[in-house]
Amino acid sequence: MLDLGPQLGTLGPELEAALLRVVRSGRYVLGPELEAFERECAGYLGVAFAVGVASGTDALVIGLRALGLGPGDEVLVPSFTFFATAETVSLVGAVPIFVDIDPETFCMDPRAARAATSARTRAILPVHLFGHPADMDPLRELARERGLLVLEDAAQAIGATYRGVRTGGLGNAAAFSFYPSKNLGALGDGGLIATDDPQTAERARLLRNHGAPRPYHHEWIGYCSRLDELQAAALRVKLRHLEAWNESRRRVAGLYRDRLAGLRDVTLPAERAECRHVYHVFTIRVPGERREALREQLASDGIASTVYYPEPVHRSLPYARAQSLPESERACGEVVSLPIWPELDDARIARIAARIKRSL
Ligand SMILES: *Cc1c(COP(=O)(O)O)cnc(C)c1O
Repeated sequence: MLDLGPQLGTLGPELEAALLRVVRSGRYVLGPELEAFERECAGYLGVAFAVGVASGTDALVIGLRALGLGPGDEVLVPSFTFFATAETVSLVGAVPIFVDIDPETFCMDPRAARAATSARTRAILPVHLFGHPADMDPLRELARERGLLVLEDAAQAIGATYRGVRTGGLGNAAAFSFYPSKNLGALGDGGLIATDDPQTAERARLLRNHGAPRPYHHEWIGYCSRLDELQAAALRVKLRHLEAWNESRRRVAGLYRDRLAGLRDVTLPAERAECRHVYHVFTIRVPGERREALREQLASDGIASTVYYPEPVHRSLPYARAQSLPESERACGEVVSLPIWPELDDARIARIAARIKRSL
């Protein structure tokens, strides 16, 4: 699905130098690399504050708590997403309320969000799924009307834009992931909270370090969740290439579009005019049994494909809600994601597209 080899080839010496610099410095946690990365990442995202943490999951947990969310609060989440979106709401003691998606963008349907709002709703947690921004204007309008907070799950969409604004700057706070396969990947786990609000940033800083503003003075029950110096140093090197990588992902998506255009059984991913999609994955729809047949054909040709996601979160074992979310359920039965990475070349895309055509 993803080949990190070319990246390591180009960046190898620069990455090794950065890592060695940290090893020799003797500072491994909450040091100058993290400070510099937070400054550089905030600059890239166009937000006032960035707080590095140990994973995208922790960025959601700490982001929720920094916004003051907790027991009794209802948070609107899409069901067609990675499990962590809802899991973290539960982890802070709040209640995820599952909302259906817009079938074209796979992101939270603003009308369904409005219908799911109750007197206990405190926040909306839209996911910019697969690299396409959620429809933020109507969601923010709903938030304004009802006095709700907005936390973006931007784990898959660093560098994507909505009406010219980068994800991370579209709500009260945002959570990013630097899991190795994400568009900006660390050499292990990492995450970050972005916000323009000084109080939210300050709380996130405390929460990631046992709630302590100074050593041994604890103001909150927090976490041990710092982005360490080795990861921060590696991410600083990679951040400088993110724009070019995202542009290349868009080029790869364009080639897929050209080659798969006009196939009756294939629905290509939407890209709304007001959005810049960064194609974390390239996800098509193939209805019915043809999806499984296609996946088997690709596998026998040595071509990877993945189903993100086979089960909507509201139907997973820990939630098992009786509720029906038809578009989320239908998407789980139809989606198939194709290989994509910035250096994926034309010839390979042509071969993959030819196999898809033959199988359908
Ligand atoms: C990857 C991801 C997360 C979690 O990030 P980790 O760094 O793996 O903890 C959360 N939400 C979404 C939508 C993701 O894709």
